[in-house]
Amino acid sequence: MQGVRKRQFTFSSVYLAVALAFMFALHFYVLNHPEAKSVPYSELTADVREGKVAKVEIRSDSIMAELKAEGKEKPKLVVASRLPNVDERDFVTELEKQGVSFEGRIDKVPWWEQILGWVLPLALLAGFWGIAMRRMTKGVGPMTIGKSQAKIYDLDESKRVTFADVAGVDEAKAELVEVVDFLKHPQKYRKLGAKIPRGVLLVGPPGTGKTLLAKAVAGESGVPFFSLSGSDFVEMFVGVGAARVRDLFQQAKERSPVIIFIDELDAIGRSRGGPRAFATNDEREQTLNQLLVQMDGFDADADIIIMAATNRPEILDKALLRAGRFDRRVLVDAPGVAGRKAILEVHSRKVKLDTDVSLEVVARRTPGMVGADLASLVNEAALAAARRGSDTVSKADFDEAIDRQQLGLIKRGRVMSDDEKRRVAYHEGGHALAALSLKHADPVHRITIIPRSIGALGATLQLPTEERYLMTREELLDRICVMLGGRVAEELACSDISTGAQNDLERASETARQMICRFGMSEALGPVTYGAPSGPSFLEGPVSLVDRNFSEQTGQQIDAEVRKLVDEQHARATRIISERRPLLDALVGRLLVEETLDQPALEDLVAAYTKKAAE
Ligand code: ADP
Ligand code: MG
Ligand code: ZN
Repeated sequence: MQGVRKRQFTFSSVYLAVALAFMFALHFYVLNHPEAKSVPYSELTADVREGKVAKVEIRSDSIMAELKAEGKEKPKLVVASRLPNVDERDFVTELEKQGVSFEGRIDKVPWWEQILGWVLPLALLAGFWGIAMRRMTKGVGPMTIGKSQAKIYDLDESKRVTFADVAGVDEAKAELVEVVDFLKHPQKYRKLGAKIPRGVLLVGPPGTGKTLLAKAVAGESGVPFFSLSGSDFVEMFVGVGAARVRDLFQQAKERSPVIIFIDELDAIGRSRGGPRAFATNDEREQTLNQLLVQMDGFDADADIIIMAATNRPEILDKALLRAGRFDRRVLVDAPGVAGRKAILEVHSRKVKLDTDVSLEVVARRTPGMVGADLASLVNEAALAAARRGSDTVSKADFDEAIDRQQLGLIKRGRVMSDDEKRRVAYHEGGHALAALSLKHADPVHRITIIPRSIGALGATLQLPTEERYLMTREELLDRICVMLGGRVAEELACSDISTGAQNDLERASETARQMICRFGMSEALGPVTYGAPSGPSFLEGPVSLVDRNFSEQTGQQIDAEVRKLVDEQHARATRIISERRPLLDALVGRLLVEETLDQPALEDLVAAYTKKAAE
């Protein structure tokens, strides 16, 4: 729809340009004699003095002179502006001296010229303005500018979204099932004296399925569903947004029971005032006020439920969240592992999966991904299968899709020297070996030395067995040990160390610093926090040294503790890896050949090693 609107707008601006050009030409023609040549006053007086002039007509603002004809030519006309506030008696005397016939003329524009001169341009302008407006605001049907742009959601069976299409957000779904029930059987609730909720606000990060849930409510409830986006209200004309809100509620009341859905509510619902109070958009504020007025205005038996979605609830105006408005807030959060599996199942319904694909494993490998990411992941996997010319999607396709999304595309054609490859293999092998040997480390899912476009030359993917909210001291220490494993393996197996461990070292030091400064896990410094946390949550964001609330001396102590902690883990990693050096070498050997090792292959290697060691 956007595209159509845009095209029509350009169309009418062509009209406008033509009209303007026409008006300009008209104006020029009416007010000037096109054949008269405009000359400076001095040239005109010189012509008179030289006796070249035959006739002069003095007008209120200009002097027109007809030059004497030379030969058979038509007499030439010249025109000069009169000098403002200068007495022209001398000029007249000169004219008399030269015997030029002259006359004065008070400009009297004929009535039709007057009308053409200003009424016509105005009329044209108004006409084209009107056309432009009508075209710009033409949404659904013949509407004028103050009409709401709400789309009545089509209840076309084939495209209908149902709750079955939404997965992984069970609590939100349960709440909305209730809302649908309100609308389907209002009497049931009224009989008990219960009020139907007025506003339901879906809150959650982008891509978690808020819009999808709203569509599902539309599909399930069977009542008219007005869907529009917050930005539809915000137009360039003051007052339009408010008018649209009024119109929307007017229409809704006529058709009740209905659901009104406002997506991206933050576009209009942003809080008024605040630090940018002077710069606030007056228009938006009017729209918001109108929305509040309307929400209060309809009485309790009008079966209208207003749903809205936002991913920035914190910036919404407090008035919107007051009781009687969006008083029901439904959290649509990023899915956990079970939720991700369910979403993957929904999206792979139409995809033929190979028997080796376990959506469970895919779900475990994608922590942090939301519904929209998972939908595109399935699609990427299907595309990868199509590229292979296969008609089923295999585990490898999923692996590729995940890698694509998580680590960037495989840089095909990028060549690594054998030396580099060996180094990367040892580095990754070191991480893997440390992880395999430590009790609290997450199991290793895959090691690869295929370079990806984002930074990493290789990767060791560890698979968390469960979502983590708390971590113990030992778990954190194991984590640091695994991070250092890469560097340690390089130290042991290569003649020199490389820059490849930079990220590992940063993460290890940061984790150590957090253990000491934030989690009180150092014996020397005790259960005290140092410095203000700068990240939003646990294990996120570095420890801020800007707001240091500790002494210089404590600062030195913290540094020493961090150093000690990292050194201890480095020594531990060195011990673990050098004890199992043959396993590391075997692992690297396989890795250099196959480039990627999966969990089963790793387990085989470890089993073979332990058997040999036991003999
Ligand atoms: P939001 O409005 O929260 O930003 P959307 O509803 O627009 O997210 O989600 C975009 C797409 O992602 C949906 O069309 C759907 O294909 C997929 N998606 C998102 N969340 C889910 C979910 N919970 N279940 C199934 N698919 C989902
Ligand atoms: Mg959305
Ligand atoms: Zn590393």
